Amino acid sequence: MSTHQLHADHARLFEHNRFVYPVLSRRSGGISLGVNLNPDKICNFDCIYCQVDRRSQSETRFVETEALIKELRTTLEIVTSGAIYDTPKFQDVPPHLRRLNDIAFSGDGEPTTYKNFDELIEKCAAVKRDMESRLEVPQPPIKLVLITNASMFHRPHVQRGLKILDENNGEIWAKLDAGTDEYYHLIERTPIPFRQILDNITSAARNRPLVIQSIFMRVNGEPPSVAELEAFCDRLNEITSVGGQLKLVQIYTIARRPAESYVAPLSDAQVDDIVALVKQRTKLSAIAYYGSAAY
Ligand code: SF4
Repeated sequence: MSTHQLHADHARLFEHNRFVYPVLSRRSGGISLGVNLNPDKICNFDCIYCQVDRRSQSETRFVETEALIKELRTTLEIVTSGAIYDTPKFQDVPPHLRRLNDIAFSGDGEPTTYKNFDELIEKCAAVKRDMESRLEVPQPPIKLVLITNASMFHRPHVQRGLKILDENNGEIWAKLDAGTDEYYHLIERTPIPFRQILDNITSAARNRPLVIQSIFMRVNGEPPSVAELEAFCDRLNEITSVGGQLKLVQIYTIARRPAESYVAPLSDAQVDDIVALVKQRTKLSAIAYYGSAAY
């Protein structure tokens, strides 16, 4: 098989993937492999800003472990061999972004609700270790990133999964979008109590540094009030005051079509103001990610 054929086959292979998706992440400065643990598109939150299109049903309802691991192995090979940059979708990636940054567990719902979460993380970590050991040119270790709403951290199998992440260059990005109970329920629309989320983030952050991911928006034209944002900073301070380690607070706004039409992005200046407030009131590192005027 010629190199060209091999590359063409690779392209077909990952285009038909059902669980593992390569994306260019300018933010992280490289390619991120998304692993979708919720192909059924079911989530225990119902965020008003969610970008998952739940109008169409997915054909894949369950995680098929063997198929997922095979996709991960193949897609890792396509990326690390450079074959991905011969495919139409990735051929224009500039040279400095042609590196694999991470494998990110996220998907079309909350990844930690997957019942075999710990086993799956271990299997993916083993694939990553194997790949790293076979790389001819030494590269920085690939990160394993968990993007989560923190609602399941109290479950033992999730705690085991988090520990496996810790041992494999893992990073946990925990969502916290509110400072008060009322605003939390307005945004996340879940029966899970706000206290549970705060307790879960606090206990996870006592065991390893977490990244906090927070999205703020206009709801029916109204940005979050100053009181809400100050309460948000207070919650962060409560976490750190009992030994929780927060290495970064990422402040986002809406960048893609949200679930509800009454949700709209903040301006860049409003996002900057929130970052400044967080830095000033918490002394934590905070960074802004801007929205898109299209929505
Ligand atoms: S937690 Fe994530 S996937 Fe679930 S509804 Fe919210 S934004 Fe969507």
